[in-house]
Amino acid sequence: MPFELPMLSQFHALLGTVGIWDLVDVLIVAIIFYKVYEMLKDTRAITLVKGLVVLMIVTMIASVMELHVISWLLQKTVTLLFVALPIVFQPELRRALERLGQGKFLGMDNRLNMEEANSLVNEIDKAVFNMADKKIGALLVVEKNVGLNEIIDTGIKIDALVTSEFLMNVFIPNTPLHDGAAIIRGKRLVAAGCYLPLTDDRTLGTELGTRHRSAIGLSEQCDAVIIIVSEETGVVSIAENGRIQRYMNHDSLRQRLRPLFQEEKVSLNFKDIIANWRKKDDE
Ligand code: ATP
Ligand code: MG
Repeated sequence: MPFELPMLSQFHALLGTVGIWDLVDVLIVAIIFYKVYEMLKDTRAITLVKGLVVLMIVTMIASVMELHVISWLLQKTVTLLFVALPIVFQPELRRALERLGQGKFLGMDNRLNMEEANSLVNEIDKAVFNMADKKIGALLVVEKNVGLNEIIDTGIKIDALVTSEFLMNVFIPNTPLHDGAAIIRGKRLVAAGCYLPLTDDRTLGTELGTRHRSAIGLSEQCDAVIIIVSEETGVVSIAENGRIQRYMNHDSLRQRLRPLFQEEKVSLNFKDIIANWRKKDDE
């Protein structure tokens, strides 16, 4: 067909100009987009990003269909939103930049090997159930990818290896550090006496007081996992992603904690990233 030939040759000509560095370029951009998506997907920012994408698509359709007034209005709205975005999401952006600075953007955080992770989980488990038996209230935050420096700043900075003895010592009633939350980063206890943001969730039962509400509140805002020991009942709970799971036992606590500390292979392999993405989408 005479019509197709020039297009085909154009395509071939275009292909001829694609070099290895163009592929590398595209690959890097794809990885960056994936990482940004991964960072945003469990935050309140993702709904806004989805809204923006819809708005941009509608703007494009309106401009293709030459609906001038609507497309003018939509264009102005999109511009305005791009200006408003950094203001509204200032805390999130700050955290993202902090992570970038800490070299965590490509997943290069300092996870532990299997042995270290197991021993850390043992120490935490021992301390938590010891405190539960004695009805000593405790609040333990395990930091994941989102840096908790703002939370750490509200308490007293410590830098100590996590051991069950030290953890229990922190939460002994009427001592200076027992009030508030302790923060665990890797195998170190980095702060205690920290203030966590309370949740606005009105559907929670009245048996959950401020200790539990502050744990749920923090878990709504970042990816941290928070362990709560109730002073009143000795019940051990875990908060994550805005939800609380109560009545944990040794096995369930260990199962939840182990993946938080264990080493993950740094995956810059594109096939792995896609497979990972698919797996998460299926869940
Ligand atoms: P419990 O079952 O242990 O009684 P609760 O959920 O009923 O827990 P409260 O009785 O109100 O909660 O517990 C108060 C304790 O929780 C405080 O002494 C303090 O240590 C901790 N706490 C309360 N609010 C916060 C907060 N915003 N951030 C960190 N810790 C907090
Ligand atoms: Mg109480």
